[in-house]
Amino acid sequence: MEKWMEQLQNSVNTLRRLKEFINVTSEEEKAITDLDTKWGTTPYFASLMARDDPDCPVRRQVVPSMKEKENRYGIPNYLIWKENRATDEVRPDSIARQYYDRIAFTVTDMCANYCRHCFRKELVVDRDLKLRFDVEEGLAWIREHEEIRDVLITGGDPFILSDDKIEHLIRKLREIPHIEMIRFGTRTPIVLPHRITDGLKKTLSPYHKVPIWVNTQCNHPKEITEKTAQAVYGLLCCGVNVGNQAVLLKGINDDVKTFRELHQKLLSVRIRPYYVFYCEPAPGIDHFRTPVEKGAELIRDAIRGHTTGLAQPMYVIATNIGKIPLVPDYYIVNKTEKEYTLKNYKGEVTTLPNIPE
Ligand SMILES: *Cc1c(COP(=O)(O)O)cnc(C)c1O
Ligand code: SF4
Repeated sequence: MEKWMEQLQNSVNTLRRLKEFINVTSEEEKAITDLDTKWGTTPYFASLMARDDPDCPVRRQVVPSMKEKENRYGIPNYLIWKENRATDEVRPDSIARQYYDRIAFTVTDMCANYCRHCFRKELVVDRDLKLRFDVEEGLAWIREHEEIRDVLITGGDPFILSDDKIEHLIRKLREIPHIEMIRFGTRTPIVLPHRITDGLKKTLSPYHKVPIWVNTQCNHPKEITEKTAQAVYGLLCCGVNVGNQAVLLKGINDDVKTFRELHQKLLSVRIRPYYVFYCEPAPGIDHFRTPVEKGAELIRDAIRGHTTGLAQPMYVIATNIGKIPLVPDYYIVNKTEKEYTLKNYKGEVTTLPNIPE
């Protein structure tokens, strides 16, 4: 059996298995016993957890918490709202649409790691939202909609599918004349790097004018290992671009030091930071959420000017009407008819002529 399948088959998803990796606290044990929630991870990702620290950034993404029962601010039926499933346009369950030229195409509800902060929790983790993910039905819808030029394949985690299924998806999408690019959203380079096998690379690699982009999700520098570095290099070698979409998580990556280190370390393994998301108001994840401004402050204090410009992600708030960027607001200090006054990351000020239109 391939290593990645072995990892999935040996998924750490029982209390007994978890105890092989960490000293489970009584609170963690209660959450696992009491909550009706899907949880679990790969033995590989589990081995990155600190044995004796319940605040370990990897552990908090893996092990359920009683705090998931608290829900003061989460929006009920979050995914229905977020993915515009209640609009007039009739679409298959697998197609989420917020934009004219691109869609998110859900092909599975399975993941290698069931992230505690997942905004698609209702579907993936709590499983109280019942949807049908029929790939052929989704493909037919995309074929009929000539305005769609970019398809973002998501889940769950689409790289949990077999090579054959992934090959089929890519082949069918590339046969559609209006599709110009294909994206995969997958956490496998981080939680199951073994998935980037020679077989998968063969599926992804032949040159084609319709490029493939992968966006993974890495939230803390601890998640990046030599295995991840090799998996990413493998993807790049077959012409697949790799980006990161982090989630801003309270107590995990919301301090200057961790935030900067995360983005520097991503570049060191050739992953280009793409987005940092505000932690969405899905039910049961209040305890992961920071104030909205926090992400922009971190870009200001940890990234812009402080390190390589390529390390800079865009900070966005994902909403039902699309992603809304939030940038630090200090750059333009003043504007007169004659000139702009601009401020840099150190607080130094400069001027630039205001050229009339
Ligand atoms: C995030 C998302 C996209 C892609 O957005 P980009 O800003 O182009 O990365 C497309 N459709 C939906 C429904 C999305 O949530
Ligand atoms: S891999 Fe993505 S879809 Fe799956 S649980 Fe994590 S955040 Fe949610």
